Amino acid sequence: MISQKAGSLRKSVSLSFMASAFTHVFVAAALGKAVSPEKMPLRFWSLGLFCALLPDLDVIAFYVGIPYRHMLGHRGFFHSLPFALIVALVAVSLAFRKVPRFSGRWWVLAGYFFAVTASHGVLDAMTSGGYGIAFFSPFDNTRYFLPWRPLVVSPIGVYGFFSRWGWNVITSEFVWIWLPILTLLVVVLLIRRKLRRQPPAVP
Ligand SMILES: [Zn+2]
Repeated sequence: MISQKAGSLRKSVSLSFMASAFTHVFVAAALGKAVSPEKMPLRFWSLGLFCALLPDLDVIAFYVGIPYRHMLGHRGFFHSLPFALIVALVAVSLAFRKVPRFSGRWWVLAGYFFAVTASHGVLDAMTSGGYGIAFFSPFDNTRYFLPWRPLVVSPIGVYGFFSRWGWNVITSEFVWIWLPILTLLVVVLLIRRKLRRQPPAVP
């Protein structure tokens, strides 16, 4: 009886996960590089990667009996845009206290942490499996997918990853996420380098 329950639980969890953790982290790193021309402290990078993965802590819901479609279920409130906003404000307030509030740098940092956290739900909404994302929770708990869903949904953990399924996940994410973002990042870095090299305008 226990094993049957555990089996169905594992099945519901493994069929519902996400874009892979590698891709969530990759997007956070690429975005961080794009928005920070100067060298950033370790806490910027570690917090960015943490924010990218944070929404999936809601898989705990499966283990404590919260239904998938519940507001606090997997891909519910913790994958929403309001949650990303809260995370961004907390992150920048706690980790960058010396940055004057509402200064240009403050907005860049807050925008970065918001975008990284929100990117998690957007990537999940491009996957082929599970339920949609409650982007507007707690105001509206409707689950949404993007109209275009080229990503193969990823299994939880490394166990399911070393399989044909895992390979399909990696190839779909490489083609549709990694390659376009890497290309964009190279363009941003080249433009930035070109602007830096330009001599200052003569008054
Ligand atoms: Zn997720």
